[in-house]
Amino acid sequence: VLTESELIAFISRGRAGAPARKGDLGIGDDCAVLKVGARSLLVTVDLMAEGVHFDLAYTPPYLLGRKAVAASLSDIAAMGGTPRGVFVSAALPAKTKPAFARALVEGIHEEARAAGAAVLGGDTSSSMHRIFLDVVAIGEASRRGPILRRGARAGDAIYVSGTLGASARGLELLRKGFRPWSRRLWSRSLLVRGREADRRRDELVAALAHLLPRPRLALGRALGVQGLPSAMIDVSDGLAIDLHRLCDASRVGASIELARIPVDSAAAAGRPGRAPALALGGGEDYELLFTAPARAERRLMAIAERLREPLARIGRITPARRGVVLVDGSGRRRPLPRAGFEHFRSATRTT
Ligand SMILES: [Mg+2]
Repeated sequence: VLTESELIAFISRGRAGAPARKGDLGIGDDCAVLKVGARSLLVTVDLMAEGVHFDLAYTPPYLLGRKAVAASLSDIAAMGGTPRGVFVSAALPAKTKPAFARALVEGIHEEARAAGAAVLGGDTSSSMHRIFLDVVAIGEASRRGPILRRGARAGDAIYVSGTLGASARGLELLRKGFRPWSRRLWSRSLLVRGREADRRRDELVAALAHLLPRPRLALGRALGVQGLPSAMIDVSDGLAIDLHRLCDASRVGASIELARIPVDSAAAAGRPGRAPALALGGGEDYELLFTAPARAERRLMAIAERLREPLARIGRITPARRGVVLVDGSGRRRPLPRAGFEHFRSATRTT
């Protein structure tokens, strides 16, 4: 069986067409970078396949359109850039209802509009059975240049925006049949108080975090304008995997503290013991993970406060030989697995 990383290795080993021009950057970061005059264009693409990335049983077309665009825009934010436009290609089965397509397109337009990006074009096709949505996002790097994954240095602090784990918990709930719009849910919700009401609210928040992610565009742009991060990536596949990617690109190690990871309270919805695992290994949070020298902290916190985006310092970059490690609540250090939620479920269980 061909794995995704094998396929990417085939593509990038082949030197991918003509050599990139000086100053350009190809495969290996959140976006490709194309130098045009004094500025840099950012280009990224994200493909969503029905049955793999989304399930129509719990994904309304409007939210699907928004999320497809949001996922691509998040990669522009991860370079400290500003979105300019998107190209959207869609392959829809012949049986697709016009109302479905209309809602899908409305979601695409709305997400792009909210981000200040124009829908510049795309392509359409019919498909045998399933929906495919492919979004190319184009952005502009700040005048200081794009923030790459490869700039982290030993001694830099590691930060993550927002909170983690809610989207993965939301996906679990949706897969089990939870529907945030079900009439039964809302009529029942009116009758409960206290803990039960909190749990139901958390479930709603988690499901929405999964269906309607909010990429950190304003924060990414502000960080890019001030040029504060030494390296940055967005958390699309889980904090553990994405931290490894940043460390690989920078050829450094890292040490993060479990207790400092901003676990979303909704990630615990009904299952508090599993929240740290969801925060480390769950994907699709679309938060920003970045590193910066210690002297930048005051300016970073000022930006976060102005934008009302929470920012947590979760650890420190170390020399490569120390590897990427997780320090748990009792001070025990162990290698941070390059793994998704399933792995962490057993690894972080509190007994
Ligand atoms: Mg990314």
